[in-house]
Amino acid sequence: MEQRINIRLIIISIVAVMATAVSVTFVYYELFQEQVKKDLRIEAGLIGENSITEYEDNENIRITLIAGDGSVLFDNDADAQTLSNHKDRPEVADAFDKGSGESVRKSDTMNMRTFYYAMLLPNGNVLRVAKEARSMMNMFLSVFPVIILVVAAIIFLCVMIGYYLTQKLLQPIKEMAENLDYASEVSVYRELSPFVDRIREQHEDILNAVRSRQDFTANVSHELKTPLTAISGYAGLIENEMVGEDKQVRFAGEIRKNADRLISLINDIIRLSELDHNDCVGEFTQIDLYEVARDRYELLRDNGRDKNIEVSLEGESCIITSSRAMMIELIDNLVQNGIRYNVPNGRVTIQVHKSENQAVLTVADTGIGIPKEEQDRVFERFYRVDKSRSRETGGTGLGLAIVKHIVEIHDGSIELESEPGKGTRIVVKL
Ligand code: ADP
Repeated sequence: MEQRINIRLIIISIVAVMATAVSVTFVYYELFQEQVKKDLRIEAGLIGENSITEYEDNENIRITLIAGDGSVLFDNDADAQTLSNHKDRPEVADAFDKGSGESVRKSDTMNMRTFYYAMLLPNGNVLRVAKEARSMMNMFLSVFPVIILVVAAIIFLCVMIGYYLTQKLLQPIKEMAENLDYASEVSVYRELSPFVDRIREQHEDILNAVRSRQDFTANVSHELKTPLTAISGYAGLIENEMVGEDKQVRFAGEIRKNADRLISLINDIIRLSELDHNDCVGEFTQIDLYEVARDRYELLRDNGRDKNIEVSLEGESCIITSSRAMMIELIDNLVQNGIRYNVPNGRVTIQVHKSENQAVLTVADTGIGIPKEEQDRVFERFYRVDKSRSRETGGTGLGLAIVKHIVEIHDGSIELESEPGKGTRIVVKL
């Protein structure tokens, strides 16, 4: 990357330097040419025919006097006799024609040009002055060493700037890569923020996922251990014949109860893991939520009756796209909780109705309620407000986590209102 930045900077700089050098030479040469021509005109004016001989040995300027027929009368640079007729030289022809003329021709000397100015004298002869001056190429070549020096300096600067820029660009990324845990403390420039924020979020998500997996594993182990320890204890006593016949049935019952708890726990764990991986979520079809609730109602009402709780159902038909199995799980979990955490002679009301294109399922009870500070946490895996009551009533601490998962799969929402001593109301919108 650094190399690429350097190469680009160098190319841009060289192009810029060359373009500047060429255009400056071009403009400057135009001015220089004008100046040479102007000088020649002034000098021609000063010389006049009479003082020509004074320039015999002047090597800076060539003076030629041409007669009306084009023959050369005098030339301070060559023998006038040997020179050919000058009438057809453009500047001479112009002078005869219009009084003055000028032209520029390539010199015999490399990279030089000769500037001519000719003027008609009162006596009919033409006086021509000529001077050699640098050509544009000559001028450009003379600044070439300077250009090379500037380019070398620029290449050095580009390498330095390229290094500095890449360091500056990469510094936050390097810092973050070295320690992603402190990514939020690394200060980044504006353009990098969206990328860095995304990385930070993902890193946080990964950390949270790892943390909750670790918590979950620890919780699962703990939850499994309790009933297994009880089973092992009861079985050990029976094995060592320490249980009288009268108590054997009770002990066998305890073993069965704990085994049932293990089964419920394992079922719930498997279900959560399936939902996590979107496995076994059932086929999504058009189903009537009210009809599903009515199907479950009989069984739930019997469950409630066993505990002196009155379960009622009201509502209207609500068609949703969902899996029937998941809706059964959702309703059962919420109503079972309503029954489990209720008071004697309490009530649980199931309500299904439509609201703004959504199906709304409300399960309200007149039970013990949930303290405000624990209301958010009850959806966490294995979180229980009253542990012993949950265990006694066959709870696993996973019911509401499963409910929340099912609602998320449907892109729905779940709200919980509860007041200790008065009851709880859970509203699910799908
Ligand atoms: P559990 O299997 O223990 O019922 P849940 O995930 O279903 O697990 O619920 C978590 C905890 O939230 C329960 O242990 C209970 O303390 C509390 N809870 C759930 N529903 C109710 C309710 N309707 N009334 C009072 N407390 C509730």
